[in-house]
Amino acid sequence: MLVDMHLHESTYSSDSKMTLAEIVSDAKAKGLDGVCITDHDSMGLKEVAEAYSKEVDFPIFVGVEYYSLWGDITAFGIDSFPSERIDAQEFIDFVASQGGFCISCHPFRNNNRGLEHHLKDVHGLGGVEVLNGSTSLEANREALRYCNELGLVPIGASDAHWTSQLGKYATYLPEDVRTIPDLVRVLKSGKCRPAIWTEEGYQVVETF
Ligand SMILES: [Zn+2]
Repeated sequence: MLVDMHLHESTYSSDSKMTLAEIVSDAKAKGLDGVCITDHDSMGLKEVAEAYSKEVDFPIFVGVEYYSLWGDITAFGIDSFPSERIDAQEFIDFVASQGGFCISCHPFRNNNRGLEHHLKDVHGLGGVEVLNGSTSLEANREALRYCNELGLVPIGASDAHWTSQLGKYATYLPEDVRTIPDLVRVLKSGKCRPAIWTEEGYQVVETF
């Protein structure tokens, strides 16, 4: 199963130009089997997305892109998140206490919103975005080096805010999942791999 793990929908991410319907139709056209909506500090779309997912029979998982004091972290498997900014370790501990899964997104992107060297300071992180669609190849490669060294799960995601970006990178999950608890369980299995979109379909990669 191929899932774009990091997307922004326009209702709750003011910098996104995509509606949920556009996300799903573009994701299907690209050959994806599911999408994750990770709006900036919002899970407001959760109920609408769950209903729409059933209506169109396409997996949509709503997480959050939380802006911790040390940088952005996407999280899945939580019902709520702190309303104020707290440091990354506190946030990771909070997500862990709810049984969820945290991913350091674009850790070395040049927008000062990645965890950067804090990747080595925190404990309990599940994955690292080693392929983020809005990040340079050099910064993605740096993320891959850290991910491998730390033994975390390598994640691919477009971080798309408009449809031409959507699906550029994705994550291969070794089984089909429909619910967030199942998504979290498979992420925690450590068997997911990043994938790159090509004209011939997605290529699962170990390195790039
Ligand atoms: Zn994002």
